[in-house]
Amino acid sequence: MNGPPPEPPLIELRQVGKIYGRGEAAVRVLEGIDLTISRGEYLALMGRSGSGKSTLMNVLGLLDVPSEGQYYFEGRDVSRLTDDERSRLRGQIIGFVFQRFFLLANLTVLENAELPMRYQDVSPAERRSRAKALLERVGLGHRLEHRPNQLSGGEQQRVAIARALVNRPRMVLADEPTGNLDTASHGRVMNLFAELRRETGVTLVLVTHDPAVGAAAERCVEVKDGHIVPRGTLAGEARPRETHP
Ligand code: ADP
Ligand code: MG
Repeated sequence: MNGPPPEPPLIELRQVGKIYGRGEAAVRVLEGIDLTISRGEYLALMGRSGSGKSTLMNVLGLLDVPSEGQYYFEGRDVSRLTDDERSRLRGQIIGFVFQRFFLLANLTVLENAELPMRYQDVSPAERRSRAKALLERVGLGHRLEHRPNQLSGGEQQRVAIARALVNRPRMVLADEPTGNLDTASHGRVMNLFAELRRETGVTLVLVTHDPAVGAAAERCVEVKDGHIVPRGTLAGEARPRETHP
């Protein structure tokens, strides 16, 4: 007897490439990216500035389309969706956290956290209670009616984290999420990511050039010149094991 077919991984990229521009002006930014991400994984995409991390994150986040190759999300080929299909799916399954927070200045903290649900089938009362619960969870229950510019950087990033989770996404993508934070806020935000991932089971992909941030993840994938560095050749893994006399 055959069992049920194996569940596809959350994400599978096969030979993904990205080229910006055409003809003489064409710039190749990603090439031959093979990457599998499992449900619930905590992954860091590491690499120097300019290596292609944000481009890869934009493809993973359905913000941009690959020029080559396939992107499967839960087994479904999402590499050639229309803009509308892509943005609808993105809103349902992915939450984003960016280095520069991107909160809307004219909205309150609570309204900012509710925003992703505006385009989903969620009642106003439910929106409010979900956003409020998450803001309380990230320690900002006493700041609901404040504006973003009345908050510290660390507090603004915690609002952005609540906003990223409010649609109960399958995956959160965070691009240099601590890049604009002081050391204390940095630690708090990193702890929060780890806790929320444990509590919700969400798949978390952190993009960073900072090895200290990458070290918090369960798996690191290094991007270099638009390629993924094969396993076993990451800095530190490449060294032969020390022998003891
Ligand atoms: P990282 O996030 O690792 O710093 P990026 O993905 O932002 O790297 O960029 C990788 C390379 O692609 C850089 O050389 C950058 O200049 C180039 N690049 C990024 N976006 C574009 C674009 N829209 N058009 C042309 N080149 C781009
Ligand atoms: Mg970047």
